[in-house]
Amino acid sequence: MQDHRKNPRLLGSMGKHFPRTHALAAGAASFALALTLFISPPEVEAKRTALPVSLSAPEEAPVIAEAVAEPEVNASASVMEGLRVVQETVRNGDTLSDLFQRAGISSAEMYQLLASGKEAKQLAKLVPGEELTFQINGEGSLQTLELHRDRLSKVEFSRDSSDEYKYALHQRQPDSYTAFRQAEIQSSLFVDGSKAGLSNNLIMEMADIFGSDIDFALDIRKGDSFSVVFNEEFLDGEKIGNGAIQAVTFTNQGKTFSAVRYTDSNGDTNYFTPDGKSMRKAFIRTPVDIGRISSHFNPRRLHPIFKTRRPHNGTDYAAPRGTPVYSAGDGRVIKAGYSKANGNYVFVQHGERYITRYLHLNKRSVKRGQRVKQRQVIGTVGSTGYATGPHLHYEFLVDGHHRNPATIVRQLPKAKAIPSAEMARFQAQTQPLIAQLERFGQPALAQNQDESDETKDSVN
Ligand SMILES: [Zn+2]
Repeated sequence: MQDHRKNPRLLGSMGKHFPRTHALAAGAASFALALTLFISPPEVEAKRTALPVSLSAPEEAPVIAEAVAEPEVNASASVMEGLRVVQETVRNGDTLSDLFQRAGISSAEMYQLLASGKEAKQLAKLVPGEELTFQINGEGSLQTLELHRDRLSKVEFSRDSSDEYKYALHQRQPDSYTAFRQAEIQSSLFVDGSKAGLSNNLIMEMADIFGSDIDFALDIRKGDSFSVVFNEEFLDGEKIGNGAIQAVTFTNQGKTFSAVRYTDSNGDTNYFTPDGKSMRKAFIRTPVDIGRISSHFNPRRLHPIFKTRRPHNGTDYAAPRGTPVYSAGDGRVIKAGYSKANGNYVFVQHGERYITRYLHLNKRSVKRGQRVKQRQVIGTVGSTGYATGPHLHYEFLVDGHHRNPATIVRQLPKAKAIPSAEMARFQAQTQPLIAQLERFGQPALAQNQDESDETKDSVN
């Protein structure tokens, strides 16, 4: 695999432009080449297992002779301005005491540090792989402790002249570069998306953006294609992750959909069509991610507990207790409480005409009067009230009448478009992205252009 990170021609241009190489590779015939060129190094987003490190001191107080402890095999030590520097990596099962012991510092000093303020409490939540740097003076006393949580942040506790620990958080900003990927689907969205160098997260993000227009489980065909503009984040020349998708087009069975990301003047970020219509429906299809319909909307149902004919005014989703329940759309909580029949419940009003109701919650996480966003967690699945097992009873009312939640959403309009007052701002921000997407997404067009022009184009 070609390492484009170290290719100055690529990296040098990425800050403001698409890599020049893309123009050469964009022709349909060179498509395979483009795939090879743009494959990213594996992402450094690996999740670490959170293993809380116990604070408890060892049963028997460790005998720590001053500055006796030699650094262990995995630690490195050096002398700097009269300070001894010891680096320790948190291992599985390590307690903070273990780390202090390995660095040769007394537990009394550890407790002094832990008592120095609320910021020191995070030392109790170390994760294997994190690094600690101890700076120790000639008397074996801790002067500075640095916690390297990840490559972007460093927490520092340093002892000042009055023997108190001062806390400082140092954060680095990664360099953000615009990247472009495109692919034609030969086997599946995931296979061809990964071949084109997209992470699974970006593929899912793309599927989510077009989720109300394309059914990615059923509608995808061989020959469908997509182009994506997004940011890649680098630290010291090494890729550390991806930013959000900035612009994307997807051609599904001959029909092309485009979307751009836009943060409005209120600070809300959403995806829109290039002419400012919202990409998302006003309501999500189901207010839980996992679960299955255990009881359909049925105005003539036989009630499972009362064995009498009672309308079932909603859809039941059976899901494990504790599964997050989302607000189906933006709105305001008009009721949140408990009743014998409903258990914990939340009602949300959306605009003038719509109300959604969520019953039998294990926990409620919103209050009456509170504004909620679409997909904001409002509670968790439970079995409070009249319920035979953990499930969400979900109702959807239009103008005060119960409708079938499983089918109504498809008939409803999309979320709000860009208001005319904000259209100029929207266009100023998104048109450059759309222009890039079009240029790079159309090989013929790119080929016809003077390459030197292309490398001068600025992304922002
Ligand atoms: Zn029900």
